[in-house]
Order: sequence, then C-alpha cells, then structure tokens
Amino acid sequence: LLAAALIAPRTINIKELEKPSCGPDSVLVKIDFTAICGTDVTIYKTGNVNVPRILGHETAGTISEIGVNVTNFKLGDRVIINPVSYCGKCELCCQGKEALCPSGGLRGRELDGFFAEYVLADKTDIYKIPEGVSSAEATQIQTLTTVYHSQRRLDVKPGKGILVIGLGVTGLLHVMLAKASGAIPVIAAARSQWKLDLARELGADEILKLPDIHALDKLKTLTGGTGPDAVIDAAGTPETFLQSIEWVAPSGNFLSYGTLHEPVNNFSTFQTYFKEINIISSRAASHADWMPSINLVKGRKIDLKRLITHQLPLRQIQDGFKMMEDSSSRAIRIAIAMH
Ligand SMILES: [Zn+2]
Ligand SMILES: [Zn+2]
Repeated sequence: LLAAALIAPRTINIKELEKPSCGPDSVLVKIDFTAICGTDVTIYKTGNVNVPRILGHETAGTISEIGVNVTNFKLGDRVIINPVSYCGKCELCCQGKEALCPSGGLRGRELDGFFAEYVLADKTDIYKIPEGVSSAEATQIQTLTTVYHSQRRLDVKPGKGILVIGLGVTGLLHVMLAKASGAIPVIAAARSQWKLDLARELGADEILKLPDIHALDKLKTLTGGTGPDAVIDAAGTPETFLQSIEWVAPSGNFLSYGTLHEPVNNFSTFQTYFKEINIISSRAASHADWMPSINLVKGRKIDLKRLITHQLPLRQIQDGFKMMEDSSSRAIRIAIAMH
C-alpha cells in the first residue's frame, strides 16, 4: 500500500508499506479521502514531529476487512475514524475527556495518520457515514466534532448574539453550528470578502469586514447596544485574541478556539476583570461529540459540501500543501483521493 510521509520540513515522500492485518476488534479501512487540515500544514512547515510521519487526521473510507468481534459494522460500510488515541482507563478518559489523556495522542501527529491507502481502526473509533453525504465531505465531520466540542463548552444559547472571527473551515462550521443552536444574530468577521460572502450563504446574519476601526461601534449596534454575548476566535492570532476581549459584551464568553502559536504581547487581564469575561479554551473532541455532529450533518443542519473546494490525487499531495499555504488559491479544504 502507498502512504505519504513527511520526512523533513516541506518534504513529503510517497512510500510503499506492507498492508496491516486486521485483529479481532479492529477493521481495515480502505481510505477514500483524507483532507489537509491547518494542523497538517503547521506540521508540514515546521517538521515539528517525529519523522518519518504519515500526516492526516480527517478521513473517510470503506471497511475492507473486519475482525470477528466487530458486530455492528459490515464489509463495504463507509466510515469515518476518530483520530484521537487514548488509554480509556485514566481519570480523564473516564470523565469523557479522552483528548486530554496523558498517554494519548493524535493520529497524524504523535502516531501515523491517514494519508495512506489502508489504515487499521479499532471498532470503538469508527462511525458510519450518513447516506447522501459524500466521502470527501464526510472527512469534515471530524473537524465539526472539534467545533461541536468547543461550543458545548461555550454553552451557546438560543437568542444570544455570537461573533465568529476567522472564516476558514472551522470558522464557517462555527457559524453554521451557532445558527443551528439558535444564536441570533450570528456575525461573521474576516478579511477576505469571498469568505464573508460564503459565510452569508451558509447562514451568517451579519458580516463584518476586517480590519475596521469602527468594529466595536458596529458590533454594539448589531447586538442592541452591548456587543456580542459570545465571541469565538477561530483565527487564533494575538491580534484576534485581543480583539475578542475588546469586542465581547460585559459578562460575555470568549472562546479561544484557534490555536495560538505565539505569545500575546501587551495582554493585560484588566479588561477581563473589568468586564467579568469568561475565557474558554478547547482542545480536540471526545467520543461524546461524534454522534451529535453526525446527526447535524445527517439532518442537513450543517452543510459540509461547500467546505471541500478542491480534490487532488495522492501523487499531488505536496501541491495540495502548497495550495493550503497560498491564500490566493482560495482553498478551504483540499481532499486527497487516496486511490
Ligand atoms: Zn484537522
Ligand atoms: Zn486515558
């Protein structure tokens, strides 16, 4: 079987591996598509991982071999795979916080991931893809689980105003999920007009083009005077972190969703004290986030179609990474066809 492994920063090698054999509690999944995520791009650029490493954690495939103890799936079922590995026994795992398991990791980072023609998956880590959802789209259910997990922590309430800053895949999913949860108005903010237009099509009530020196006044007007009850920073830059704290309403909630890779300079806690703001962090997702996410896609509350902007064959995977680094490509998600 073929697999794409990172061997050095910005260098991916397609290599031949032996096809693994399936144990009694696992399935062998013939991978249809694996999407390139921002996390993959960060690892690709920095090489900050044990190499060689097969990247990729957003995947969809078809069961091609099945263990004898796997009873609720059958050969040919289309499935998605939870990429979070965990022990299942420690205190955090027992609390349903498997992503925080000290002996766990993410497939495609600490462990080999899904840019491979075949992968093994444990029976507890697979979920059926709803009918009518393509395998390329289905790769984004994993992304939705992380968004769902974070909004569960944010506790989105119907009728509350939400601002989402940054409109990559996760920002757009945050917009759709906030709408589905009854938040109003849902305001989408970004620098690119085409992303704002897409957010509008996907359900944003209002848009805010950044940068805007009058942003605070505009947000107050849009939300009846106080500012948004919740701000979700899906961009994850020091600038958007500080803007979120400035723009959120007093007593509001700030979800710091996008991962910051640099320190926030000149950050003072005075505003968080003065406005009594809750700062909420969120990492990955738990098993508990998968079925609700699948149900939202199955019930057409969340539309993943528009998020897959490109598809490329495995041999062009490196071009895919280059496109993800180049904003002029207008790539949101690129699904790599593994066969
Ligand atoms: Zn991802
Ligand atoms: Zn554990």
